[in-house]
Amino acid sequence: MPNIRHLSFADIQEYVNRSGEPAYRARQLYAWLWQKHAVSFAQMSDLPQSFRERLASDFAFPVLQIEIIQQSLDGTVKCLFRLNDGKTVEGVLIPAGDRLTACVSSQAGCSLGCTFCATGYLGLQRNLMAEEIFDQVAYLNEIALQQAGRRLTNIVFMGMGEPLLNYKQVMLAIEKITSSEGLAFSSRRITVSTAGITKMIYRLADDQVKFNLAVSLHAATDDKRSQIMPINQSNSTARLIEALQYFYQLTHNEITIEYILLKDFNDSLEDARALVKLYRKLPFKVVNLIEYNPVPASPFQRAEASTTNQFITYLQKQHVNVRLRRSRGADIDAACGQLANVVHPDATLLHAGRQ
Ligand code: SF4
Repeated sequence: MPNIRHLSFADIQEYVNRSGEPAYRARQLYAWLWQKHAVSFAQMSDLPQSFRERLASDFAFPVLQIEIIQQSLDGTVKCLFRLNDGKTVEGVLIPAGDRLTACVSSQAGCSLGCTFCATGYLGLQRNLMAEEIFDQVAYLNEIALQQAGRRLTNIVFMGMGEPLLNYKQVMLAIEKITSSEGLAFSSRRITVSTAGITKMIYRLADDQVKFNLAVSLHAATDDKRSQIMPINQSNSTARLIEALQYFYQLTHNEITIEYILLKDFNDSLEDARALVKLYRKLPFKVVNLIEYNPVPASPFQRAEASTTNQFITYLQKQHVNVRLRRSRGADIDAACGQLANVVHPDATLLHAGRQ
């Protein structure tokens, strides 16, 4: 049976018409699918029983299942979601100050094999469909409402996978998240992160997207970057800079540089100098330095606090707009680079088992 959420609004209007229902049913049905986040036809209480039964016999309505919810000591919440085919992905809710940020996955696993990242060691299982990305946001928004009494303030595509290698479905999900018939979330509060797929950065620019872009740089020379991010071998830093300049020219959207500080690898003053050199070639930007959380398969360790401070001080003296992103949710493997569908044995479970 076709998936009801693969129908456009025009398709739904046509189906409603064919079913002999009044035209306004199309808007009611669409709202249940994309605004009220219904998880079954039975839940659609303002549709007549006969129409709900007809829908159930004509369409499949798969939704993500929440398998496990773990809570970190710092308040970070990690959800393990089960997809319809049994695969799993993770999404994280990060409360920090006034912000309630949802970090969502775009692929099950990842093909890019960055050597510091737990997801990279899983390999790619498959791309997520738009509704599977949308469901992560909708569930994390519901958890934010339950826990903090308010909606998400930010959404970042920094969970499992490379969003730009699942371009079409990520764009469709963002359309539903931002549209007034969907979650009506501001594009300016969405950030899509890429390991540097230059061809697709040009595409983002040409598509005039409204959201912000984050680039996982993590090393400022080709030699070092290629050692930890194989994608750099075919998408060099020079090509990346050109693509980012083009993106900024066409969109004027914020560009953030992400840089994980790895002990004795990319945390020296020489590395900081290389970063400044590259930073100066970029248009409007912010550098986020990220505290690393070691993952079992990776050889890397977190940079020492004193080295981190020296690195930041150097960047600040060079007038780099720099922020240190403290590690969040590390005790439940929810921090940056740690997502690998692991349930920590000592974690506080808010939910275990399928909904
Ligand atoms: S850092 Fe991102 S792109 Fe690299 S392996 Fe991990 S999920 Fe994939």
